[in-house]
Amino acid sequence: MNDESWVTGNLVLRVNGEPVEMQMTVPTARIKPQRMLPIFQQMSSAVVEASVEANGKEVSCKAGCGACCRQAVPISEAEAFQIAELVEAMEPRRRAVIKERFSSQLKHFKELKWFDRLIGLKDMAYEKDPNFSPEKYMAVVTDYFKEGLPCPFLEDESCFIHPDRPLVCREYLVTSPAENCSDPKPTNIEKVPIFLRPSKAMLKVGRSSNSENYSSLMMIEALDFVERNPDRFPELTGPEWAERFVKELAATDAPVDNASRVRRKKKRHKK
Ligand code: SF4
Repeated sequence: MNDESWVTGNLVLRVNGEPVEMQMTVPTARIKPQRMLPIFQQMSSAVVEASVEANGKEVSCKAGCGACCRQAVPISEAEAFQIAELVEAMEPRRRAVIKERFSSQLKHFKELKWFDRLIGLKDMAYEKDPNFSPEKYMAVVTDYFKEGLPCPFLEDESCFIHPDRPLVCREYLVTSPAENCSDPKPTNIEKVPIFLRPSKAMLKVGRSSNSENYSSLMMIEALDFVERNPDRFPELTGPEWAERFVKELAATDAPVDNASRVRRKKKRHKK
C-alpha cells in the first residue's frame, strides 16, 4: 500500500476517568479485520499502560515467567485466523511441531470433556439457570490450568509470538508475587484492573457468521476452527473497523474482577 492509502485520526480514550490521547493511522482500503490487529494491539498497549499507571503498583510479570500461559486463553475468531496465518508462515518442520502441540492439546481437553463443561456453564449463565454460579465457572477454568499444559507458543517460559500475541494476553498483569502464579486463586493473585477491555471489544468486532454462537474461541481451538471454517469476514475500510472497535471498547468501560467474567451469551453448538 502506498502512503495515499492511509488516513490518520486522533482519538481520546478515558481510562479510569483520565484522558489517554492516541493517534491512529488506518488503511483506507477495504480489508478483513485480521489486518487491523496491529492497530488494535497498539490501542491495547495504550489502555494497558494507562491502567498500570493509574494502579500505581509494580507489575510482577517479566520475560521468562510464563506461569499464566497455562491458562485457557479466550480469543476472537479474527485472532484465530491471524494465529493460523502465523503458523502457516513458519518453516515446515517448525510448523509441524506447533501444529502437533495444538492438535494434541485440543484432543486432550476434548477427551476430558472440558469444552462440554465450559459450554454447559455458559449456557446456564445465559439462561439464568439458578444452578449456575461464578464459582462453578472458575472451577472449570482452574481445571484447565491444573492440567499444566503450556500454550503452544510458550518456549523456555517465554512467548515466541510476543509481538503478535492475542489481546487478552496483554491484559493479564499481575502485581502479586510472581511465584503465586503457579497456583492462582482469587485470594492470592492481584491484578491491575483494566478499565477498558480491548480483548472484549475484539470478541465482538472480530466475529463472522462462523462464530456467531461462540462467546470466544480457546487458543488451542484456533487451527482446528480455521481448518473447518472458511474466512467469512466482511471487508470494511480501516476507518469503519476503527469506529466499530472504539464503540465496542467504550462499552467495556468497567474494571473487571473474576466474578464478572462470565458473560451472557447465546448458546454455542456443542461439538
Ligand atoms: S500467546 Fe504467548 S502470551 Fe499468550 S498464552 Fe500463549 S505464550 Fe502466553
